[in-house]
Amino acid sequence: MNKLDAQRQKEIQQAEELLFAGPQALGFAKGLFQGHFVADWVMPYPRIPAAQQPELDGALTELRQFLDEHLDPAEIDRKADISRSVIDGLGRVGVLGMTAPKEYGGRGFSQMANCKILEEIGRRCASTSVFVNAHHSIGIRGLLLFGTHEQKQRWLPKLSTGEQLGAFALTEKEAGSDAANVLMQAQPSEDGSHFILNGEKRYITNAAIADVLTVMARTPVPGSDKTAITAFLVTPDMPGFEMIEARMPKMGIRGTATGRFALRDVKVPKENILGPYGKGLKVALTVLDFGRTTFGACCTGAAKTCLRLAIEHANTRKQFNKTLGDFHLVQKKIARIAADAYAMEAMTTITAALIDRGLEDYMLETAMLKVFTTERLWECINDVFQIYGGSAYFVDRPLERMMRDARINQIGEGANEVLTSFIALVGMRGPGMEFKEIYDTMMKPTRDRGFAKAWTAGKHRLGATVRLPEIPVRSPKLRWFANQLGRLIRRFNVAVNRALITYREPILDMQLVQERIANAAMDLLASACVLSRQDAEIQFAQGNGSSSTPDQFAADLFLRQSFRRIRHFLAGLTDNEDKSVLATANSILGKPGN
Ligand SMILES: Cc1cc2nc3c(=O)[nH]c(=O)nc-3n(C[C@H](O)[C@H](O)[C@H](O)COP(=O)(O)OP(=O)(O)OC[C@H]3O[C@@H](n4cnc5c(N)ncnc54)[C@H](O)[C@@H]3O)c2cc1C
Repeated sequence: MNKLDAQRQKEIQQAEELLFAGPQALGFAKGLFQGHFVADWVMPYPRIPAAQQPELDGALTELRQFLDEHLDPAEIDRKADISRSVIDGLGRVGVLGMTAPKEYGGRGFSQMANCKILEEIGRRCASTSVFVNAHHSIGIRGLLLFGTHEQKQRWLPKLSTGEQLGAFALTEKEAGSDAANVLMQAQPSEDGSHFILNGEKRYITNAAIADVLTVMARTPVPGSDKTAITAFLVTPDMPGFEMIEARMPKMGIRGTATGRFALRDVKVPKENILGPYGKGLKVALTVLDFGRTTFGACCTGAAKTCLRLAIEHANTRKQFNKTLGDFHLVQKKIARIAADAYAMEAMTTITAALIDRGLEDYMLETAMLKVFTTERLWECINDVFQIYGGSAYFVDRPLERMMRDARINQIGEGANEVLTSFIALVGMRGPGMEFKEIYDTMMKPTRDRGFAKAWTAGKHRLGATVRLPEIPVRSPKLRWFANQLGRLIRRFNVAVNRALITYREPILDMQLVQERIANAAMDLLASACVLSRQDAEIQFAQGNGSSSTPDQFAADLFLRQSFRRIRHFLAGLTDNEDKSVLATANSILGKPGN
């Protein structure tokens, strides 16, 4: 086996271990790749249970009041610090322990309710929303999901109130996108009572202000010369914990403390192992699923701010004796921001509800949400920036800050390119395995169980390409959209099958093909979420006897634009200039062509 094959084998083995723990209910996104519309996961549009709504409303009112009175995003950016009084205030209103169980001092909110809270913070200040995410969505998430009762009892009460803060430390110099390449070492002591940690972490949000850090380190696999990643709870008072740089100066989200630290012979008791020994990568990726969900909520909030700012300016600024909002090229931007903000909210709500409702594997949906919302937000900010013209460029407006702040979103918690490839490959795994079954049997045809399995797989594949998935909307005026979406899902499935048959295993490296498939899948998911939300809103409006709202226009527009994009992505699978792109890049990079 050459080096490249060995690396590929290692990656596949890691992915198998992480992703496919056993039989699971078919999720919505995986269903799309198989030509199904698994309606139960997205319809009817999820709502906060009536019994919980008053508590959420109360929390939102309290939060808004606190933010109105005490949060100054411009000052946070200027001083590159979120003051302790703001952090304490966020703790007081419950934000820092929103989803922690009440028995450990938290508010016991669902992911869906928590997303409403983070949307509100994301509307106002990205530094603050990233700080909250680093503490609550990922910093203490490992403890919430994988902690033992003793660990939770010991750490959570202070972390839930914000008396103590959390951080999540995965990234190292050699382990950025390649998260599995963690080099920080954790060697067991001779008596087995503790582990000795050595290595460095960088780019860690809250590192310098955290009291408890979830740290990923490499541990030996007993009985072999292999190593695996294990998660540890580390506190900065442990001897050998060295803060190399507490606040790395940076472009945006300047209020957050992003730091570098080293562990030099730090003794960490074995009781501080978080989750199963050797399963730290699983811990890390599960934690990041939650971070990606609240990312969606924060981006939704920021997109709503873009919309508000765009409306304000378009209705007041006059040029050529008209307000900017009279010009179609400005209207086009505003309409698109409204459409995207609507979709981002719908997608966030449904993804959070998948977690609340107990879907076992939501990695695909959370990855899609992260990529989709961060890319759309970047477009929204760019559009509103353009509407403000030269005035956007000056620091007395929030837009230059918003633009600086938003740029991290496409990089952090999984660079969008890495997640795009992941979405396509994980999504295609189901149909790919069925094709493999068929192919292997055709190569070695024997009349045994293999043939029967291949026959079933063949029937599934063929069935999905013929069947038109039904989208159960209740509002007659949405039937046309539902029908179009069903057709696009079928077309998508045919395109996935064709790509798998045409390219076979090399598709694992064909990122330009993967990107089109992932993009189409993300727009299919977004459209399904929008249709579900719109259906619920129409039903609600009919119940109240009201007519259509601006949101209905935005939803319509989103669906039309999304369907057009899906057709474009699928057409690109056969009509493209990929060879030329790669030849150009290879020649410039001085690489042999492929
Ligand atoms: C402000 C900030 C806060 C952060 N907070 C935290 C934190 O709290 N905890 C933590 O653990 N980490 C944190 N990070 C780290 C962050 O998650 C990483 O920066 C991110 O995972 C990317 O890793 P990298 O920067 O090493 O980029 P690289 O891995 O070097 O990637 C650079 C670029 O290469 C491309 N690329 C890489 N791999 C592929 C691929 N397979 N296919 C196609 N393209 C690819 C992508 O475009 C990517 O953006 C933070 C980073 C920043 C900037």
